[in-house]
Amino acid sequence: MDNWLEGLEPIVGHQEIKVPYRYSMGATTSKFFIEIRDRKKIMGIKCAKCNIVYVPPRSTCGGCFALLNDWVEVSDRGTLQTYTIIHYPTPAQPVPTPLIYGIIKLDGADTGLAHLVSEVDYERLRIGMRLKAVFKEERVGNMLDIQYFKPI
Ligand SMILES: [Zn+2]
Repeated sequence: MDNWLEGLEPIVGHQEIKVPYRYSMGATTSKFFIEIRDRKKIMGIKCAKCNIVYVPPRSTCGGCFALLNDWVEVSDRGTLQTYTIIHYPTPAQPVPTPLIYGIIKLDGADTGLAHLVSEVDYERLRIGMRLKAVFKEERVGNMLDIQYFKPI
């Protein structure tokens, strides 16, 4: 049985599976989404020791590992730090391609939020451009309650 591959070339298959699942987002992420859903407020969480405001919030500081619970409201406006344009459609994409994913550092935050960027011509897309969140009218408590960010 130890030599079952002897004399054989192993064949490796590549397939995809789709696995529906549910999970609890936890207290920190739940509060983040509830504030967006119910008040259109984007909240960060601050580490007083490191003086860092995380958006999206996290329960533990990545710098000093302190437990975090100092909530601060940040702006719905920010600066595009980087972006990519996706042309390849997959079932995992939330909107049809082509689409733009950006990292947006909101005013008052020290970290970047990954989200969609829309209502912009590709030629005008620039790192450093100012963006504003566009909230959905009907919000359900997930990241797509912010429909996308658009240029100011
Ligand atoms: Zn810290």
